[in-house]
Amino acid sequence: MEKNGIGASPGIAIAKAFVFVKQEAEIPTDTVEDAVAEIAVLDKALDESKDQLIKIKDKAVEALGEEDAAIFEAHALVLEDPEFAGAIREEIKANKTNAALATKNVTDMYYATFDAMEDPYFRGRAADIRDVGTRVLNNLLGIENVDISSLDEDTIIIAEDLAPSDTAQMDKKHVKGFATDVGSRTSHTAIMARSLEIPAVLGLGDITEVVKTGQQVIVDGTTGEVIVEPDQKTLEKYEADQKAYLEYKRVLAELKDKPAVTKDGHEVELVANIGSPNDVEAVLQNGGTGVGLYRTEFLYMNSEVMPDEESQFEAYKKVLEAFHGDPVIIRTLDIGGDKKLPYLELEEEMNPFLGLRAVRLCFKEKNLFKTQLRAILRASVYGNAKIMFPMISGVPEVLQAKEILKECMEELDKEGVKYDKEIAVGIMVEIPAAAVIADKIVPHVDFFSIGTNDLCQYTLVVDRMNQVISYLYDPYSPAILRLIKNVIQASHSEVGKFTGMCGEFAGDPYATLILMGLGLDEFSMSASSIPQVKNIVRSVTYEQAQKIANRALEFDTGAEILDYAKKEIEKLGIKVV
Ligand code: PEP
Ligand code: MG
Repeated sequence: MEKNGIGASPGIAIAKAFVFVKQEAEIPTDTVEDAVAEIAVLDKALDESKDQLIKIKDKAVEALGEEDAAIFEAHALVLEDPEFAGAIREEIKANKTNAALATKNVTDMYYATFDAMEDPYFRGRAADIRDVGTRVLNNLLGIENVDISSLDEDTIIIAEDLAPSDTAQMDKKHVKGFATDVGSRTSHTAIMARSLEIPAVLGLGDITEVVKTGQQVIVDGTTGEVIVEPDQKTLEKYEADQKAYLEYKRVLAELKDKPAVTKDGHEVELVANIGSPNDVEAVLQNGGTGVGLYRTEFLYMNSEVMPDEESQFEAYKKVLEAFHGDPVIIRTLDIGGDKKLPYLELEEEMNPFLGLRAVRLCFKEKNLFKTQLRAILRASVYGNAKIMFPMISGVPEVLQAKEILKECMEELDKEGVKYDKEIAVGIMVEIPAAAVIADKIVPHVDFFSIGTNDLCQYTLVVDRMNQVISYLYDPYSPAILRLIKNVIQASHSEVGKFTGMCGEFAGDPYATLILMGLGLDEFSMSASSIPQVKNIVRSVTYEQAQKIANRALEFDTGAEILDYAKKEIEKLGIKVV
């Protein structure tokens, strides 16, 4: 059986499926005679749960670093809370309730209490309590806990969706691919899959219903195909494709230390998008010469409390030092929209994507903003840091953000703290208004970075996460290309200024020649996309790219432009996967 979804992370995976759905336990209702013996049963299950969590945490630290593993520490804390375990014991003692039912009752009660709390931090803890309660319950009932942190064989994870906590505990050695019911190219799961270089197909609708654990599955993250129980001929074809893909990747890997320069000497920057210091290694391995987008919000989202200046300073310093003077563009907090912080209470909004997000929120929460700016400034002496403000719609916001930055600089001056006084300051161009008036903004900034993920969403008025209208989400749209051209031209009107792109479009191999031909200076993408884009850059002359870009701008639709771009790549004999 074959299914089609969104190819979100390239490559081919062939392995046994593991359907990752959390099983509902059937809970006995009978009472017990010997409460003391039942409490001993409970204590054994609690110990077992604790041991499992320690093991999972250690594995997660190894696979993904301390930051992503923190969630398991939160789970262990619930188990160690004497009130939680005490309440279960009390229920067994007082009502002779069996241990499983007592665990369920207490978990439900705690869950409801936390879930009803005003404070979003405590509300966020409700999910941890449920996870832990389920683990203890499963241990009591002999149900295997769904654990993707320790797999015995190569596996393709089939899930409805994967939460950050799921991907955090994933056993990278054995997880060869994922296929999910929901998700899009720009969803968290997609970004995670690309950074882990795991082939992934998302948005398949009902893949969790059609696949059973143990069935053989092929995931082609390049084409978006998933094949369940392939016949011998299909299997052989994909095995051959997989071999060719890996061979191609090996050839591309040889370009690692070569510059991204065209045959006639036009050089572009190929840099990476990162979410934490843990991602740096992959950038260096893929030959990235810096960071075009450091999404700092993960630092905030992975933390239980607001990260202080010191912890932010350490994270930024670590990244800057790793790049030894290569540029690192640190984007200030882009929270709001779909990204929430458990410890920052915000009013419900009718249209969060059009609401109080990114710099708008930072202007309102000025202390939070200043803490981050001070941390970036302090770290700036350890490398080549640049500051980038997200969601800028016009000149007043640029001026306001720069004014606050100036305040931070003055404070540091007074304190005698060193920072890079010449630090470059740029903005993300992801609101159409900013793209249209780029010529008015350019005198106030050192660079632009085009965020096509949001620019597309706002220009075409298409929610980037909504599958039903995803056919309208098209970065090849002539409207988007014109905006891109406008931004690049505006930046080039002043000496020393440049335009980069850090939306997913920057890593799309069919877009490379058009974007380079339009004059894009810097391409920032998932680290794993760098080698392929570099290969394309090195296969042509700048003049060829310019001709292709000019021709592309003449078409009426995005579909025609993509079709044309594909044909040109083919004509040039460039392989793309
Ligand atoms: C973008 O909008 O293109 C972008 C890079 O930012 P994010 O995906 O984090 O919104
Ligand atoms: Mg954005």
